[in-house]
Amino acid sequence: MTLQLNDPDLLRQQAYVDGQWVDADSGATFPVIDPATGEAIAHVPRMGAAETRRAIEGAERARTAWAGLLAKERARLLRDLADAMLANADDLGTIMTAEQGKPFAEAKAEVAYAASFFEWFGEEAKRVYGETIPAPMPERRIVVLRQPIGVTVGITPWNFPSAMPTRKAAPALAVGCPMVLKPAEQTPLSALAVAVLAERVGIPAGVFSIVTGDAEDAPLIGGEMTSNPIVRKLSFTGSTEVGKLLMEQCSRTVKKVSLELGGNAPFLVFDDADLDDVIAAINVAKYRNAGQTCISANRVLVQDGIHDAFVERMVDLSRTVNVAPGFDPAATIGPLIDEPALAKVARHVEDARARGGEVLVGGGVHEQHGRTFFLPTVITGADMSWQMSNEETFGPVTAVHRFASEAEAVRTANDTPFGLAAYLFTRDHARIWRVGEALDYGMISINTGFISAAEAPFGGVKESGIGREGSHHGIEDFLEMKYLAWAGIRDAG
Ligand code: ADP
Repeated sequence: MTLQLNDPDLLRQQAYVDGQWVDADSGATFPVIDPATGEAIAHVPRMGAAETRRAIEGAERARTAWAGLLAKERARLLRDLADAMLANADDLGTIMTAEQGKPFAEAKAEVAYAASFFEWFGEEAKRVYGETIPAPMPERRIVVLRQPIGVTVGITPWNFPSAMPTRKAAPALAVGCPMVLKPAEQTPLSALAVAVLAERVGIPAGVFSIVTGDAEDAPLIGGEMTSNPIVRKLSFTGSTEVGKLLMEQCSRTVKKVSLELGGNAPFLVFDDADLDDVIAAINVAKYRNAGQTCISANRVLVQDGIHDAFVERMVDLSRTVNVAPGFDPAATIGPLIDEPALAKVARHVEDARARGGEVLVGGGVHEQHGRTFFLPTVITGADMSWQMSNEETFGPVTAVHRFASEAEAVRTANDTPFGLAAYLFTRDHARIWRVGEALDYGMISINTGFISAAEAPFGGVKESGIGREGSHHGIEDFLEMKYLAWAGIRDAG
C-alpha cells in the first residue's frame, strides 16, 4: 500500500539516531499496519539496547551546546518546527490516519494540537525565572536557579501518535534538554515525520532522536533508557502496569519520572444539567478517537430525574455516529487499533450482557466493515461490579449507571484506584464547587467534553500518574532547582 503524500519524504522507514537516519544493527524490521485494512504501510527498524545507548550518548554530546543557546534561539527553532508541522498538516494527517485509523479530519486536528506544544513551550521557556529568597543572616544571599535537568527519554502510546511525542519533546527541548523518544510500535511513523521536520528546521543532531522497536523490543529499549546513568528523566504515557515497571527501573539510578497512566473517567450528569451540553460533550468524551483516549468517559453516572431523557438522546446520538475507514470523508469514528483492543471491548460488552445490562444500540462489529470497526454501543443498568466499571474499555461503548444523590455519585466516582479526568454536568454553582473539590481526579471537566490544551496542566492522581504535562507546570518537570548560597556581602566601609 502506498500513501498519497504531497511530500513522500515525510514517510520514513528508518529511525533517527543522533542526527542520522539508520536501520537496526541487525537489519531487522517490523511492519506498521493500517488498522482499517490490515495491510502494511511501512516497515521500520527493530532496535534494541545498543541503538538506544547510541542515541542517549548522542544526546549527551549535544546537551551542553543545546542548553547553552539563548531561550529565544531555541524558541525560534521550535516555532519553525510548529510552523513546519502546520504547513505539512495534510501529509502528517494522512500518515496518522493510515497508521492509527482515526478519521482524517480528527488526525489533522491532532497535528495542530501537537504543533501547539512546540509553539507554546518555546514561548514559555523564555520565562524560566529564578528566585531570590530573604536570607537568615545579614551578609548572606539566597539565589535559586532553574536549570535543564539533562538528557531525557520519552515513551509514548499509539492513541495520539503525534501529540504524545510533541507533548513530551516540546517542554524538554524548550528548556534545553535533549530527548530520545520511543514511539508506540503501532504508530511510529507520525513521530518519525516530526523528526524529519525537526531536522529540516535545524534542530541539531542528537537533540531529538527516535528509536523504534516492536512490542518485543520495547523492554530492551526501555531497559536501556531507565538504566543508563546519563538519562536524568523519563516521561511515559501508557498503561499503569508498564508505568509501574518503568518507575521501579528508574529507581535504581534515581531518575525523575513523570507518568501519565490509565484512567477510568466518571461522567456525572445531574438532574439540572443542560442536556444539549451533555450530549455535545459526550460526543467528544466518548466518540473522539473511537473512545480510545485515557480521558474517555468510562463510567457514565446519571441522576434518576434525567436518566431516561439522557439515554434516549444518547441512543439518538450513537445512531448518527458513522463508523467507517478514516479516509472516508463521512467517517466520524474509525476502527479500533488492533485485535487485542477489539477483544477487550467485546469482553466488556459480553460481561455487561451477562450481568443483566440492556444493550440499546450497537453491541458488536460493523457488518460491512468488519475487522475492528466496533459499533457505537449504549448499555443501561450498569453498576460497579461490571468489568467496564473497573477497567478502561477504550472503545465506543457507554455503560449508563443510575444514581439518586450527590453523595452517592461522588462515592461511586471515587471508587477506583485511578484519578485522571472526571466530567461534571450541572447548572448549580455550589454543586460544581462541592463536587469539583470532592472528586479525587487531576482534571475536572465542567459542562464540557474538551479539556486538553498546551496551556493547561494535564495529569492524574492516584494510580493515574505523577507530574503534569502542558502549562508552566509541565516545564517544571524538565528543570532542576539549584540553590546558590552567597556569603560575605558586608558593608562597604
Ligand atoms: P497500551 O496498552 O496503550 O499499548 P503500553 O503501556 O503497553 O500501553 O504501551 C505504551 C508504550 O510503552 C508503548 O510505546 C510500548 O511499546 C511501551 N512499552 C510497553 N512495555 C514496555 C516496557 N517493558 N519497557 C518500555 N516500554 C514499554
